[in-house]
Amino acid sequence: MLSSAEIFFRRPLAETDPEIAGALLEERSRQIEQVELIAPKNYMSRACREVFTSLIPFTSVEGYPGKRYHAGIANIDRIERLAMDRACRMFGAAHANVQPHSGTQANQAVYFSLLEPGDTVLSMDLSSGGHLSHGLRSNMSGRWFRTVSYGTDATGFIDYEQLADQAHMHRPRLIIVGGSAYPRTIDFAAVASIAKEVDAMTLADISHFSGLVVAGCCPSPFPHIDIVTTTTNKNLRGPRGGLIVCRDEQVGRRIDSSVFPGIQGGPLPEMITAKAVCFGEALDPSFRDYAERVLAAARAMAEALAAAGFGIVTGGTDTPLVLVDLRGTGLTGDVAQAFLERHGITTNRNLVPGDTEKPNVTSGIRIGSSAIAARGMGAEEGRELGQLIGTVLRRASQEGVAGDGDPAVIERVKQFAAEFPIDG
Ligand SMILES: *Cc1c(COP(=O)(O)O)cnc(C)c1O
Repeated sequence: MLSSAEIFFRRPLAETDPEIAGALLEERSRQIEQVELIAPKNYMSRACREVFTSLIPFTSVEGYPGKRYHAGIANIDRIERLAMDRACRMFGAAHANVQPHSGTQANQAVYFSLLEPGDTVLSMDLSSGGHLSHGLRSNMSGRWFRTVSYGTDATGFIDYEQLADQAHMHRPRLIIVGGSAYPRTIDFAAVASIAKEVDAMTLADISHFSGLVVAGCCPSPFPHIDIVTTTTNKNLRGPRGGLIVCRDEQVGRRIDSSVFPGIQGGPLPEMITAKAVCFGEALDPSFRDYAERVLAAARAMAEALAAAGFGIVTGGTDTPLVLVDLRGTGLTGDVAQAFLERHGITTNRNLVPGDTEKPNVTSGIRIGSSAIAARGMGAEEGRELGQLIGTVLRRASQEGVAGDGDPAVIERVKQFAAEFPIDG
């Protein structure tokens, strides 16, 4: 007879909870068989995944290395120090906080350290590609602070003149750059000089291209920008989570106390550990090959879709993101997303600049190359995937989306997935 503790530690999920185990198996098949083009999604290395089956999730800590409130913390202290040190080396920063549970919470901690309720924040509006945590009315950031925004010009590029005008008119405490659907590099020096004129702090949220910055494939916000936030699960290929880095120690201390005890309690030790592992991978010279393939695959998808006659916001991309403008095709983003999924290609509907559709309908599709590049794909596969998406969308726009989809495309997508497996 097994004791209750033995049962607790030994019985497998399939036995204790077949319902959840069944859903996990189905999710496994879905991921193996589909081609993932949703921009924030990515895979972790085998090394990162080992963290989650280790015993580190059972560590519980509060505070920071050297300033904990529990015993038994020597190993997690060592790990968190490594994570912080690697984060600083990745971006040339002086200070790093690796504890935010998500990108949104990283931003929230920055606001909590710099702003008082009612202060003015200048950020990019959502339909131009901004992020909801940058002042959307239904997010805490939009409820507690006064958000004013800048957008993109007719070609989809950031309108720096408008940014400067807004800064001079509203004198914000904080200017935010970066977004969730802006496909181009940002002129950080120009933003810093506008901020200086109005005495504002600057935050660059580089969630969608932080891996490319580390690899030197995208310009770095430092030394121009005061504070940089990013998620760690996009092209840094780590666990879901957030990171804050800055170059000023004093600002760093304020950020630390804003994260804990400001907006979070204890951090997640397994997340910090997996962050340390993925940061180590990103610092390895081999990471450059990955980042180059991310960029090459995104550019090839954009070119193929443009050649197939689709509008690409800004005409191309400098990042993993491609934003397809569906206006004039008779398709909306939600319909295109659903039809592509029937072909094994996952994407997401997205607002495009000047969009008049609702956020849950939209006139655009956002595609990202971070996950396919992790699977080993590059420019060649990006081009073919762009062509396949073009074929599917063209057909949807001419013949409607009834039926099971194009069998030839479905077959080719399955082949792609099989040729580039995700679990060794
Ligand atoms: C993904 C993303 C975030 C964070 O998202 P979470 O889901 O909160 O981790 C924040 N800012 C930008 C620009 C993003 O792209």
